Amino acid sequence: MKNENSRRDFIKKTAALALGTIAASSFANKALATTDFLEKEMITPEGGKFSLAKLPYEYDALEPHIDKLTMEIHYSKHHQGYVTNLNKAFEALDAKTVATLSDLDDIFANVDKLPPAIRNNAGGHYNHTFFWRNMKQHGGGIPTGKLAEAINADFISFENFKKQFTEAATKRFGSGWAWLVSNKGKLSIGSTTNQDNPLMKLDSVEIKGKPIIALDVWEHAYYLKNQNRRADYIFSFWNVIDWEGAGQRFEMT
Ligand code: MN
Repeated sequence: MKNENSRRDFIKKTAALALGTIAASSFANKALATTDFLEKEMITPEGGKFSLAKLPYEYDALEPHIDKLTMEIHYSKHHQGYVTNLNKAFEALDAKTVATLSDLDDIFANVDKLPPAIRNNAGGHYNHTFFWRNMKQHGGGIPTGKLAEAINADFISFENFKKQFTEAATKRFGSGWAWLVSNKGKLSIGSTTNQDNPLMKLDSVEIKGKPIIALDVWEHAYYLKNQNRRADYIFSFWNVIDWEGAGQRFEMT
């Protein structure tokens, strides 16, 4: 339960910042940006290198909804690949640019000025780090508390929210992600292409905000178990969502 405790500590620390113990300095703003929901070491290049954080559960933890082999390949090959390639792309940047980029927040804020390899792999690294953490063993069910209230307010009902999210995930052509995001408590649903995400400052990214829920709809996320049946995979996702974590993320927005 060490992870759980350190996550709580992190949330407490972030909440303290939110309460204004540090005035609206750029540091405070930064601490409350993308990385609100991920431990700092996951998104900061330690010694100039990003690293792959441990998966927060075993490869078979999400069975039978998401199978062990898919999890293993997805995490140890695909996600690792984004980290490796992000580090390569990062190394190829000039020192002056590197000096302006202390974490993924900085990368996403300046992504239009950076090479596509940085955009794709930094997105891939963040999106997957987030994705693993928005699922858990014995997840599923329904959201509670303030998030449930907001879903009802913004989407009429949980069923209607599910329908809209499923539609966004189904209709994303080719590879990409479906998102539930919050903009100061106002929820919206959308999707992004490839490894883009709602934190990237790009006109082509149609949905902006703080991620609450993310679903990877690349074929590599489901092909081994579901082959071409994306709808079956989306259906499975509802059984593994960590609504408790989603609720905590929402309350911090
Ligand atoms: Mn993926």
